[in-house]
Order: sequence, then structure tokens, then C-alpha cells
Amino acid sequence: MVKKIKTEFVLKGIPAAPGIAIGSAFLMDQQDFIVPERAITEGEVLVEIARFEEAVSDTRREIQGIKEKITAQVGAIDAQIFDAHLLVLEDCMLIDEVKKRIKSDKCSAESVFSKILKHYVGVFKKIEDAYIKERSADVEDVGRRVLKHLMGETRIHDFEQLSGEIVIVAHDISPSDAVTMYNKRIRGFVTDIGGRTAHTAIIAKSLGVPAVLGLKDATLRISNQDNIIIDGRKGVVIINPTEATLALYISEQAKIALYEGSLANTQDMPSETKDGRRIVLTANFEMDGEMPAVKKYRAEGIGLYRTEFFYMNRLDLPTEEEQYRAYRKIAEGIAPHSVVIRTLDLGGDKFISSIQLPREMVPFLGSRAIRLCLEEPEIFRTQLRAILRASAHGNVAMMYPMIAGPGELRAANSILLGVKQRLREKGIPFNENMPVGVMIEVPSAAMTADLLAKECNFFSIGTNDLIQYTLAVDRANEKMAQFYEPGHPAVLRLIRRTISAAHDANIKVSVCGEMASDPTLAVILLGLGLDSFSMSPSSIPVIKRALSRIRFSDAQELARQALRLSTGAEVEEFMVTELTRLVPELYNYNGEIQ
Ligand code: PEP
Ligand code: MG
Repeated sequence: MVKKIKTEFVLKGIPAAPGIAIGSAFLMDQQDFIVPERAITEGEVLVEIARFEEAVSDTRREIQGIKEKITAQVGAIDAQIFDAHLLVLEDCMLIDEVKKRIKSDKCSAESVFSKILKHYVGVFKKIEDAYIKERSADVEDVGRRVLKHLMGETRIHDFEQLSGEIVIVAHDISPSDAVTMYNKRIRGFVTDIGGRTAHTAIIAKSLGVPAVLGLKDATLRISNQDNIIIDGRKGVVIINPTEATLALYISEQAKIALYEGSLANTQDMPSETKDGRRIVLTANFEMDGEMPAVKKYRAEGIGLYRTEFFYMNRLDLPTEEEQYRAYRKIAEGIAPHSVVIRTLDLGGDKFISSIQLPREMVPFLGSRAIRLCLEEPEIFRTQLRAILRASAHGNVAMMYPMIAGPGELRAANSILLGVKQRLREKGIPFNENMPVGVMIEVPSAAMTADLLAKECNFFSIGTNDLIQYTLAVDRANEKMAQFYEPGHPAVLRLIRRTISAAHDANIKVSVCGEMASDPTLAVILLGLGLDSFSMSPSSIPVIKRALSRIRFSDAQELARQALRLSTGAEVEEFMVTELTRLVPELYNYNGEIQ
């Protein structure tokens, strides 16, 4: 047999999480489940058929339950989608074919079912009729549920079965799947779609795994077990590297390790500029496992706790008690510093199975974050009760995401008032003065920042969203990446306006979007007078070192000049030139921050 020689080739995508990863490609198919091909014996055939039948009836029960919940909470019309899902499970052709093939192919229920499911979905997708095309999503959805019943609650177990150093290659990885990869053998992510501030990119950073997203056709060009190098700093993926390329990247990895080692001394450095202005650096936090990193990098608190991740990868909503315990644990863990708990920010690119959101044309502009909470006041109240109860322990603040203006703030605060009143009546302790803040991430909020500042205790600017909503650029769409410009004058003006409004009203303002962890842009934020920066814990040393090497007065002057420029590209170029002049040791030989 002639052995096929694999030649090196390079794909270019969006740098989403830094670092270099080397591993073997594992293609995660679109249905997300890693289904191992498992042969069975004649004697196991009946067991597998019974397992399959049980999974189908468990799925039916599960969908019925969700349907009843949605009918009660939202109404019968919205619950109709689940009738279509139930019909999929009544499809005798599908069910009988699976049983027949378990018998004839002598394969496990999950491997047979996943193959047949893929075939069905493929057939549906090819049909021109829009209605039938839509139905393929129902079949996929139901199929996923059946597979989950066959294979266990989450896919964690499957990742654990993988051996070696794995690089996940997928069309897309949802944020909820990304969190299940925590602490597994996964060395990096490569996806066809997704942008730099998509939540999957944010999770990759939290997991500390390099990621390159938005490669467009990586899943078609990469095969299982190809050797892969991911350069998350540059957005480059090298497939089947030659010995020479491999050696080059191994030496780059060593340089990075050396550089990271050199940052260790920032841990005990005071957090201040060269001329002594204090800078508060806090951490963004998504999951429990991040607390050691928060401590290691000496974050002065948690500036953004994205609570929605606590709601993911489970079938039901977390109870008040569960949430209270989780929030309390974090508050006590971070004390004496504070934790800013952000209320639920679902929708956009984050979904959970216990709240079925209607399919929207543009989810980022739809029922998301505070809007969803105001539509679902019971879910919101449960979370508010848990946060308030946790506020009796440690130093807890809370903020609302995606507030569009004072009207929404008042609506949210009036629910909060009601919840506080009930707790008082029941004698349940909470901090009466718990600070309540507003995320400024919609242009209308920035434009009304002076009004909002009168009715809240602090601001946190969510630049990831502020950029997407200001520039009308989907943050998760790789095709729009070139238009996603953090330094765009419109974005900088809105940030300047927000900071001034906050300071005029004597409240503090932080930035918790990815912009805070970009050293070049962080200097502008510093110059604009920002009070604190919140970022993934591992970004803290670089920002601390960068800001410690600049004078506040110089940062102010740079911000003034940057705000006079006309395009994001001009701002970036100006800042790099000026910083190279002012702080030559800031950039290394590659033009990267060091
Ligand atoms: C933001 O929008 O900048 C932000 C911090 O929130 P998220 O990334 O979770 O939308
Ligand atoms: Mg946001």
C-alpha cells in the first residue's frame, strides 16, 4: 500500500486566545457529540435496542416536561415547537431503522443512531422548501437529546476518553460546550466561524487554551489526527507541519514560557502608573475553576461574574438555594475584595436548555440579557433573591447587562425593590446598601449615561457589546471581523462620554470587555480616567506591567490625541508609534507587548 504523504499547509483565521498549542486534530461534528464507533456482540443486540427505546421514552418525557413549563411560563403558542419535536420521536421509520441497523451492523445504539440522524438531517437540509429545511433543526435538536440520554448528561465523559494532546476542530463550539472542556486534555480550539469577542473565544481564554476562530473551512481542510499547530497570537493554524516548522514552534513555546515567567514578578508589584496613579485590576470570572488564577494573578476583586455559565449544561434552572450557595462561596473566596455579580445575560450567542428562546433573525438584537429577565420576572426574582442573600456575606455588588436607558434600569430596580421588601418581611438578612451598577454596552446607554449615573452606584463598560452595537458589527461573525474596530472614534467618544458622566455624578467606572486587556487600548482607557479594568485573570500581569511603564499624564495626552483621529486603524497606528517612542521596552522584537 502506498502511504499518503501529508504536506504542510497553513490556514489563517482570527486570533481569539493567545499561546501556541501543538496536538492532534479531533473533528467534532456538527451535532456536537463525540460518538465513538463501538461494535457489539450478538448477545448485546437486545440490550442496545432496549437502551435505545429507553432513551427515546426519556427524551419524550423530558420534552413533555419542558413543554409544560413553557406553556405555564410563556404560553401555549410558544410551546408549540415542542409538538414538532415530539413528532420526530413518533417517526416509526427513524425508530425502526435504528433498531434494524443495531441488529444488522452490530454497533452500539448511539453510533447507529448518530449515523442515521446525520443522514436524515442531511436529506432535510438539501430540500429547497424553507419549512422543511427548518425541520432539520428540530430533528437535530431531538437527536441531541436522545444522544444525551444514551451517552450521559454531558460530553465531559467523552472528552475524558480521548488520549494524547487534542486540538478540537469544529464548525462552531457553543459557549456552553466550551465550558465543559475545562481541565480536559484539550490543548486548543479551531473553528470555522466565530469572532474575537464571541463568548467561545472568551471561554477559551479563561480555559487558558490557544484558539483560532473564523477559519471558514477548517473542518473541510483538516482531517482527524492531522498534526496541528495553533498560534493563537497570530491567528495561524499549521496543518501537518514539517520537522523544521515544528522545531520553530517548539522554540517559540519556550520563549513564551520564558516571557510568562518574567511576568511573575508583577504579582507583587504595586498596581500603579510610573507617576503613581493607582490602577485597580480585577478579574472576569465564568466558572468555579478560575478562582486559583484570580488569586495567582492578584486580581483586586472580580469585576464581572458572568452568571449565565452557572445555568448552562443542565436541564433545569438552578434553584435560589443553589445560586445563593454558589454566589456566597465566590463572595467569601474573594473577600475582602468585592465581586460584581452580573445578572443573567442569556440570548445573543448564549443559550440554555431550560429556557427555550424563540428563534430570532438577529438574536443579539432580540430578547437578550435584561430584556429576557424583564420578560421572565420569576427567573429574575429567583436570581435577585440569591444575590441579595449572598450579599450578607463578603463584599457583593450587582449589575444589569444590556441596559438601553433609564426606563429599563427603573423596571429592573422596581423588581429588585420588591424582592428586598419580601426578604425584609421574612427577616432574611441581606446588605441593604448592596451597590447596583449598570453595564454600558448599548450606545443608547452611553448617550444617556448622565441620566443613568443618577440612578445607579457604578458603571461597567462592556466594550465587546458596545463595539458591536455602535458599529453594527456582529461580534461573533468572522466575516465582519475587519469592521470590528475597538479604536473607532465613535466607540472612543462613547467611552469618554460614559467616563465623564460617571465622574460628574461621583460614581466609579470600569471596563470589563476585552478592550481592557489590550495594552495599547488600555493606555487610552487609562488616559480617559478609567477607575478600574476587569479582564481574564491571565491578562492581568501584561496590563499591570504595561500601565506601570507609562505616566498617567502621558496617557492623558495620548488619549486626547487619539480622540482627534478619524479611524480605528489610525488610532491603533498612532498608539503603537507613540508607545514605542515613550516606552521602548514595551514592545518586543515581534512588535508584541512584552
Ligand atoms: C461586554 O459586552 O463587553 C461584556 C463584558 O459582556 P459579555 O462579553 O459577556 O457580553
Ligand atoms: Mg456584553
